[in-house]
Amino acid sequence: MSERRVRVRFAPSPTGPLHIGGVRTALYNYLFARQHGGDLIFRIEDTDSSRFVPGAEDYIIEAFQWLGIKFDEGVSFGGQHGPYRQSERRDIYRKYVRQLLDNGKAYIAFDTPEELDAKRKEVENFQYDAQTRMQMRNSLSLPKEEVERLIAEGEQYVVRFKIEPGRDVHVDDLIRGDVSINSSVLDDKVLFKSADGLPTYHLANIVDDHLMEVSHVIRGEEWLPSAPLHVLLYEAFGWQDTMPRFAHLPLLLKPVGNGKLSKRDGDKLGFPVFPLEWKDPQTGAISSGYREQGYLPEAVVNFLALLGWNPGEGHEEMMSLDEMVGLFDLSKCSKSGARFDYVKGMWFNHQYLMQQPAEAWTPAFDKILRENGIESTPEREAQVVEMMKMKVIEYVDGENNKKKRNISFVSDLWPLCRFFFVAPERYDKEDGFVSKNWKETTAQEMDQLVGVLSALDEKEFTVEEMKPLVDAWAEATGARPWNAWRVCLVGTGQGPDMYELAAFLGRQETIKRMENAIAALG
Ligand code: GLU
Repeated sequence: MSERRVRVRFAPSPTGPLHIGGVRTALYNYLFARQHGGDLIFRIEDTDSSRFVPGAEDYIIEAFQWLGIKFDEGVSFGGQHGPYRQSERRDIYRKYVRQLLDNGKAYIAFDTPEELDAKRKEVENFQYDAQTRMQMRNSLSLPKEEVERLIAEGEQYVVRFKIEPGRDVHVDDLIRGDVSINSSVLDDKVLFKSADGLPTYHLANIVDDHLMEVSHVIRGEEWLPSAPLHVLLYEAFGWQDTMPRFAHLPLLLKPVGNGKLSKRDGDKLGFPVFPLEWKDPQTGAISSGYREQGYLPEAVVNFLALLGWNPGEGHEEMMSLDEMVGLFDLSKCSKSGARFDYVKGMWFNHQYLMQQPAEAWTPAFDKILRENGIESTPEREAQVVEMMKMKVIEYVDGENNKKKRNISFVSDLWPLCRFFFVAPERYDKEDGFVSKNWKETTAQEMDQLVGVLSALDEKEFTVEEMKPLVDAWAEATGARPWNAWRVCLVGTGQGPDMYELAAFLGRQETIKRMENAIAALG
């Protein structure tokens, strides 16, 4: 048998912003497609008009652009199998609904929502299936003429899949192996609704996967319960020979506790669950995004790739998209859920940020400075980045614990870097560092240091010129001026090497800050 061309699809429903779990699904499809020289299709599953959210489709496209995940065909990408938006494929689906009806694999049902509700109240755990369908109003239970009359009169109906009970249905899953279920537990799923002339997810999904020659269906675990139904649909159409292989990816779990990752976890612990910021078109509520929080797309992709798969012993965790394409192995994905370790995500961002030259940080840094009323130049901003990027910051985590971490975002710099651009407004004797390092004789010592530094002009005010001069003075007099000098320039115990800081500030600003401190602290 000749190998089938690998064709996979990512098929979101535009019901809101793309959840981070959906991004991982798309990423795995991308890796699988690239690895096999196949195609990745972008299909929009918008047959449920009640859940349609304007802007969601554009959002999804923009998110993948940012992440560098490229599609080969689909909505906004073109291709031979279009249209790729299901709402534009009505006529195609009608034909296939007709086929199932003609073959006796499906039937027409007239039960109104009220009738179904009444039935559910009457019968505990009511399910529309082989056991109950003859008690309902449908083309199996009603005379043919009655059915024709109802349709002619414009009565609304749905088409239901006629599931034969008592069969073991097998789903051969590339990650989970053989998953089987007895068809008796399945209900006669609605495949089509006359009210809007549109198929439901199940029918449209199967018809499109078939017509678009999809070879593998890689999707989240939440779709596993639908898979037996999908297998039966392939059979009902007589398409079992070209049925795609299934792979259901592990669930993303909460960072702490049990259950699947939710937006609430993100809000509580302070991490985004969406790739880009999203503004709800109805409520105007903003949900944070990885991009706007200052994550680099490479870091997000790397972090997500490892939630449910890993390249095996002895392999670096840091991988580019291209490296992942080479290493990815669908059959090595885990069956059990992957904990969403967002701290690991920050660690990845730290790593990728450190690989970037300081110049790459400055646009974002400059924006933050401006928001704080500071104007500087890219050169000076890059100098600050170089001096400060290895610092550790203190923060309070979602559970109110004081913690320390490396700089993971450009925005982490600002609270550490204010003094580079703004002189201390006050010198606070209550500050532990100040009281410890500012003694009776300190003002006098700082006066002397001003004298030493004054020997240099503005152009000579460099680390190379300054250091030997100050060191020689300190040696000769026994002075230990560095902490007090820091108090003068920073106001407290933060900051980089003193010579680097003084050189950055320049002669005039350095001496001015020292004189201010001497006057204030005495
Ligand atoms: N439209 C479904 C979703 O929103 C697609 C599921 C599938 O991949 O079959 O995820």
